[in-house]
Amino acid sequence: MYIVLLGAPGSGKGTAGKVLAEDLKLAHISTGDIFRENLKNETELGKEAKVYMDKGELVPDEVTIKMIEKRLQEDDVKNGAILDGFPRTKAQAESLSNMIKVDMALNIDVDFDEIVSRIANRRSCRGCSEIYNVVFSPSKVEGVCDKCGGELYQREDQKPEVVENRLKVYSESAQELINYYEKEGILYNAKAGDKVGKTSYDVVKEVEEYLKNN
Ligand code: AMP
Repeated sequence: MYIVLLGAPGSGKGTAGKVLAEDLKLAHISTGDIFRENLKNETELGKEAKVYMDKGELVPDEVTIKMIEKRLQEDDVKNGAILDGFPRTKAQAESLSNMIKVDMALNIDVDFDEIVSRIANRRSCRGCSEIYNVVFSPSKVEGVCDKCGGELYQREDQKPEVVENRLKVYSESAQELINYYEKEGILYNAKAGDKVGKTSYDVVKEVEEYLKNN
């Protein structure tokens, strides 16, 4: 089973994706995480992606599609996957349809003002990429990851000016993706929760409902 999560950066789709993948025993594939991993390891792909990521722009389709195609062939994807952050453009959605059968595209609806404040409060672990919110879900010791003891930092693309650009970039292609999956008859909606963690709950509920009816 393949589920695509659509939603703005900061909508909570990353957390929801992890919860869903664990519940359904599917791989969790986040293109943002793959790019960040490559950036950390200073691979050619990472260097290429960094230019776009630092500005909040999309990495070109050609590069991203090739990367996901390779990822989908790995062993852990045998039963399917939760795709988080891919597709982001219509061209990506069309390519994906040629690679796998998408069962469900789940759109997480959010209020942009809420997102800007949420992302500004986000901190990520340099070691294991765990995400914290300094207001709602802070680490036990400030600046230190509960899970691995790594240093917590604010990602370059979580700074307010970059967040605004990411939201602009998202809005430009979001409707096109929503239309694409609506036409395919597999679009489902989940409202983003007003509390951290609530989104995951609603997303899981939506998927459970789908599984009951299919
Ligand atoms: P995310 O963590 O999903 O918000 O992704 C972080 C950044 O990685 C984005 O702002 C883009 O620069 C890049 N990125 C992630 N997924 C894609 C994608 N499907 N297409 C193009 N760029 C992407």
